[in-house]
Amino acid sequence: MDTIVAISTAIGNSGIGIIRLSGENCFDIIKKIFKTKGKEVNIKPNTINYGYIVDRDEIIDEVLVSFFKSPKSFTTENMCEINSHGGIIIMNRILEICIKNGARLAEPGEFTKRAFLNGRIDLSQAEAIIDVINAKSEKEAKASMKQLNGFLSSKLKNIKEMIMEVLVDIEASIDYPEYDIEEVTNNRVLNVMEKVKEELKKLRKTFDNGKMIKEGVNIAIIGKPNAGKSSLLNAILREDRAIVTEYEGTTRDTIEEFIQIDGIPVKIVDTAGIRETDNFVEKIGINKSKEAADKADFVIVIIDSSKDLTQEDKEILNIVKNKKGVILLNKNDLVSKINNEEIEKYSDGKQILSISALNKEGIDKLFNVISNMYKFNEIEIDDSVTITNNRHKVAINNMIENVDKSIKTINDKMPIDIITINITNILTEIGKITGESVSEDIINEIFKKFCLGK
Ligand code: GDP
Repeated sequence: MDTIVAISTAIGNSGIGIIRLSGENCFDIIKKIFKTKGKEVNIKPNTINYGYIVDRDEIIDEVLVSFFKSPKSFTTENMCEINSHGGIIIMNRILEICIKNGARLAEPGEFTKRAFLNGRIDLSQAEAIIDVINAKSEKEAKASMKQLNGFLSSKLKNIKEMIMEVLVDIEASIDYPEYDIEEVTNNRVLNVMEKVKEELKKLRKTFDNGKMIKEGVNIAIIGKPNAGKSSLLNAILREDRAIVTEYEGTTRDTIEEFIQIDGIPVKIVDTAGIRETDNFVEKIGINKSKEAADKADFVIVIIDSSKDLTQEDKEILNIVKNKKGVILLNKNDLVSKINNEEIEKYSDGKQILSISALNKEGIDKLFNVISNMYKFNEIEIDDSVTITNNRHKVAINNMIENVDKSIKTINDKMPIDIITINITNILTEIGKITGESVSEDIINEIFKKFCLGK
């Protein structure tokens, strides 16, 4: 394949940056632009070489270049990685020189796509790479690494082997259609199918945890203007356990941030912008709170306890009546005007915590309430596979449906060869996860989600 090039490290100024090349002419290109001690480089696979990137006679940067010879590389093609200084100008210049000498700018995910197309990894492993890179929590990273290491692939391979055995059995029974063989075959096939179903159901069950690990819990902070929403968000984000990541969905009216609590990602939406919408503040405040609460799995209602409980507080508490949540009596560093009994009338059984967002007091208690409610500590990634991808779950559901149909066919004493259709369907669904039976469109769609240089 043609030689592709991309900057693989994040764009920004850093100590080093990596420019990656992959393809047939990769070594020819590097020979033209990389000089060691003023000489053309001698390509020795699996070595790191010190020298300079040059543009004709001009020295561009002092670098280290590693060589990987096909098939022993990430893409299975010849590959080079140039470790340059991590400045944008320098890295872009090196990129340009590579292109000038015959490389093409890689598309997002194209290195990984080549690793997949060249058979080094299957599609589930390629998808795991995106998940590892984008992981928002430790548990998600761990589950994705397991998938990258081929745990899911090998589970599916086992299932495929069992199913193939069934096919052979059925063919044998068609070739020798005596009654007793048929009976034996039916029992054996039934046995295998029950086992396959068991395995698939176990796999599907892991998606409950998988979804939690990947998507976590959506939390909205709501409360009237000046109750302390922004202060609370700041306090949460400064907490040691909270690792902050930027989230694209941040809009003008709301701030969205990811933190992790006990290894699970939690998206926090703060409806901060509300008070800036002048005259209709109260109305808009209530509407926005309602909107945010509707979208959230869990609501944090924050009330200014240094003031009397207002109609607006009551309305907000009413909005979240049937939602999971917690009520925070904020500003406990000031003299309190609200007591628990008064709030309990409107709390609908929600736990009430007294905190001070300003002094960052009570945030631990808040985290514990959330963690306990969703049993974060019980969500463990053990040594088995955890399905975190909805596409995979859909395929597994389809497999189970086909297994059920074949079991029914056998139990209804229908001719057994009918189930070869279901078996073919199951194999196709396995192929949808591993990538053997996925359309090019879907493959392109998956790799589009990658970042440049991966
Ligand atoms: P929001 O409008 O709900 O986002 O409220 P802010 O977080 O902007 O807080 C409104 C005001 O209350 C600010 O002046 C904060 O400094 C103050 N505030 C927030 N939390 C506390 C607290 O726990 N104690 C005290 N004394 N003041 C607080």
